[in-house]
Amino acid sequence: MVLPSTCTNQKKWIVLFVLCLSYCHVFSQAPMADYPITPVPFTDVKIIDNFWKPRLETNREVTVPYTFDKSVETGRIRNFEIAGGLEKGEFEGIFFNDSDVFKIIEGASYSLQVNPDPELKKYLDDVIFKIAGAQEEDGYLYTNRTIDPSKAADKGGEKRWTNLKTFHELYNVGHMYEAAVAHYQATGERTLLDVAIKNADLLVSVFGPERKMGVPGHQEIEIGLVRLYRVTGNEDYLNLAKFFVDQRGNAEGHELFGEYSQDHKPFSEQENAVGHSVRAGYYYAGATDIAAITRTNEYDTALDKIWESIVHRKIYLTGGIGAERGHEGFGPDYELPNATAYTETCAAIALMFWNHRMFLLKGDVKYMDVFERTLYNGFLSGVSFEGNTFFYPNPLEADGVTKFNQGVCGRSPWFDCSCCPVNVVRVLPSLPGYIYATKGGNIFVNLFVGNKSSFEVNGGNIDIQTSTNYPWDGRVELAINNTKAVSAQFNIRIPGWMRNEVMQGDLYSYAEEKNLQVMLSVNGVEQKPQVKDGYMILDKQLWRKGDKIVVEFDMAVRKVVADEQVKANQGKTAFERGPIVYCAEEIDNPKGVFSLDGIPRSSFEYIFDGSTLNGVGKIIGKSKADSKKTTLVAIPYYAWAHREVGAMAVWLNVK
Ligand SMILES: [Zn+2]
Repeated sequence: MVLPSTCTNQKKWIVLFVLCLSYCHVFSQAPMADYPITPVPFTDVKIIDNFWKPRLETNREVTVPYTFDKSVETGRIRNFEIAGGLEKGEFEGIFFNDSDVFKIIEGASYSLQVNPDPELKKYLDDVIFKIAGAQEEDGYLYTNRTIDPSKAADKGGEKRWTNLKTFHELYNVGHMYEAAVAHYQATGERTLLDVAIKNADLLVSVFGPERKMGVPGHQEIEIGLVRLYRVTGNEDYLNLAKFFVDQRGNAEGHELFGEYSQDHKPFSEQENAVGHSVRAGYYYAGATDIAAITRTNEYDTALDKIWESIVHRKIYLTGGIGAERGHEGFGPDYELPNATAYTETCAAIALMFWNHRMFLLKGDVKYMDVFERTLYNGFLSGVSFEGNTFFYPNPLEADGVTKFNQGVCGRSPWFDCSCCPVNVVRVLPSLPGYIYATKGGNIFVNLFVGNKSSFEVNGGNIDIQTSTNYPWDGRVELAINNTKAVSAQFNIRIPGWMRNEVMQGDLYSYAEEKNLQVMLSVNGVEQKPQVKDGYMILDKQLWRKGDKIVVEFDMAVRKVVADEQVKANQGKTAFERGPIVYCAEEIDNPKGVFSLDGIPRSSFEYIFDGSTLNGVGKIIGKSKADSKKTTLVAIPYYAWAHREVGAMAVWLNVK
């Protein structure tokens, strides 16, 4: 989410009032520059479908309380209590554990904003009270040092920021700023926002030109500072974010950390995605924010080249990034092993954040293609249906024995380094904010998710109810419900899989070109729309209650092949239908997933099985010689490892 806003007019007034009290100067200035395309905030869109709604409910009802409980159990909350003098004891866990708590607060705040819950609100108040207590007098917040400086992980003692490369003092508070903004926008209360502002003011006084010239080893603070800037209007925060983006790769004032932290050359000179993939994704997202707000074009070439290096050469079919386990990051071009793929859930999230921002900046459909592919596959695999077991890596192949998931073979209830579960917590409730966007009188429909929405466009208000069984069915109905007519131009995304394009570039392609048809009608009259940047354009017209737009995308089982340069996939085929990437699991394929035979001599059909895995579409292969012989049963990749521990493969041998 880029600009979440409050859900009710009443809350909007509270927020405005509080903002006026503290930041009157903001309202006397011209409106802040920001992305040319504006996302419709998640608070204006309510998901009502059978696919995502249960996932969002599980996140709210299970994953939020579960991850808070885990934070208590593992000492994450207690660290704040000890740092604030409420308890006695020693720091427990990893030095960046504060950030996990901040991420849960962010997700819980989003939930609170659309689902008022006094009990959760009170719980947040209590946790925030402890966080505020752990903040030092001048704004510094890092329990790992505050509890006992002599035992600080960086061995810096009383001296702060002694090893920015490794010890995450800045990464942690970046997440705190994001949480603070979310909590403030959800409640109108400044309890955490004031903690964030005090901390950011300290950083502004310490870091920058002619002050401390270091950069964080793990990016995140850039995104956090921009969000804090948006809500306060304080340009010092924006300038500090830009400083951190520009100072990376500049040897003046700090020793370069190298490619692992993308600290090997200035951003504007970078062309390849390298290093740790979560660091990279947050970095690129932060730089895109700066490009949009400051209207600079100095990052344009780098953003385009890096994007191409990922999407043309380094991304998995599932939208996962980060091929190498050793450094949790990018490997060389075309090096995409399946069983050892790291493809961290956080990296999928970072890639989604970045691609959404690139869409908001440039308006091209290719970014939302990557977003959708990652959302339904490499991200969604990261959390179980039950909401209490997780993947950290999301490999495309498993043998049923190797403990690929941080020491576990299968889904795990928690990790010592638990960045991924708590990242899921904050992404799911904000998902409605990625469906629509506006620009002037244009409405972009980017994701096909059943929802009820009401938002401003062209000085009016439009109410839309979208009904669909996507991703299983390509029919999408948008019923307009506003009584007062509003003029708008609809821009409806044609997904890449409809356009015979797995993703832009030649890394993956469909084995057979299919002429999939899209049907578009308005009030029963078929349209022949213009297509621009991958969007079907419904020319500007008045929309009012009773109007109906219907889109029907052909969905077909598609075979995918990889560029020959990807050694791991030579001679192999993967299957897709709509936005879903499929995999074969041992439980459905008793002969094993590595010895499937006859695929070239099979025909494939799609069936929806409402009784398995919360209801999934399956791809069934039948022998052409013997139609009674099943040669393949494939399920959506996101649904694997729910029934038993066993082998799984996305890329299947075709010999
Ligand atoms: Zn993670």
